Amino acid sequence: MNVLIIFAHPEPNSLNGVMKDLAAKTLRDNGHEVKISDLYRMRFKAVLDENDFSQRQNAEQFNPMMEQVNAVGTGSLSQDIKDEVEKMKWADMIIFQFPVWWSSPPAILKGWFDRVFLPGVVHNIAEGKMYDTGLLKGKKAMLSFTTGAPKEVYSSEGPHGDLNDIFKFITHNILEVTGLEIIPSIGIYGPAMTSKEHVKEELEKFKERINSL
Ligand SMILES: Cc1cc2nc3c(=O)[nH]c(=O)nc-3n(C[C@H](O)[C@H](O)[C@H](O)COP(=O)(O)OP(=O)(O)OC[C@H]3O[C@@H](n4cnc5c(N)ncnc54)[C@H](O)[C@@H]3O)c2cc1C
Repeated sequence: MNVLIIFAHPEPNSLNGVMKDLAAKTLRDNGHEVKISDLYRMRFKAVLDENDFSQRQNAEQFNPMMEQVNAVGTGSLSQDIKDEVEKMKWADMIIFQFPVWWSSPPAILKGWFDRVFLPGVVHNIAEGKMYDTGLLKGKKAMLSFTTGAPKEVYSSEGPHGDLNDIFKFITHNILEVTGLEIIPSIGIYGPAMTSKEHVKEELEKFKERINSL
């Protein structure tokens, strides 16, 4: 299996960095091919803007989705987007590794979706190609994250609500719409509020989950 890890943490030695390295090593030890997009190291541009398009369909007024459709057709996307699209096409599975910031992924990962999940590449809504007929059908995706808050704060009875429900805007409205099959998310909750031994146990569980993929 070809696995693409999208890594969205600014510090390689963070717990997220440890999880990314552990996932890559475990997958490779099991004979899988792994590519990593380390978004901060790549200085990945997080904002969709007119610089993403070398040829404009309408130079007078910038319509982002219209220009995306045009650029996919003419091959005039910026090179960083083309590189990510190639990796995404290569992958059988995409793992998103990130810390939870404001109950969301960091902006750099949202920007990756905005710029890389292109109409005509991941879906074709005009032709009804989404969900079961989305253009990424046959591939899988999984969220892997850490939080500051402990699990009970992100439970259905807790003040924030269940994080897996909050993340439906990603798992359903961004990923499943493209046809991606969702593998249940993995989260390490509140690592800074617990002992290093407990975090190590969580990392062992994480490794077992990756082994089972
Ligand atoms: C802008 C912003 C918004 C935020 N919003 C939220 C929010 O909405 N909800 C929320 O819950 N949190 C929030 N946070 C907190 C954030 O989610 C956590 O700080 C982050 O998830 C921790 O992940 P990390 O990789 O940075 O951990 P690190 O800080 O690198 O590590 C966390 C802990 O794990 C331990 N650890 C690291 N590596 C190992 C190892 N190999 N073995 C054993 N122990 C280890 C360390 O002792 C450390 O205490 C926010 C933070 C920011 C900056």
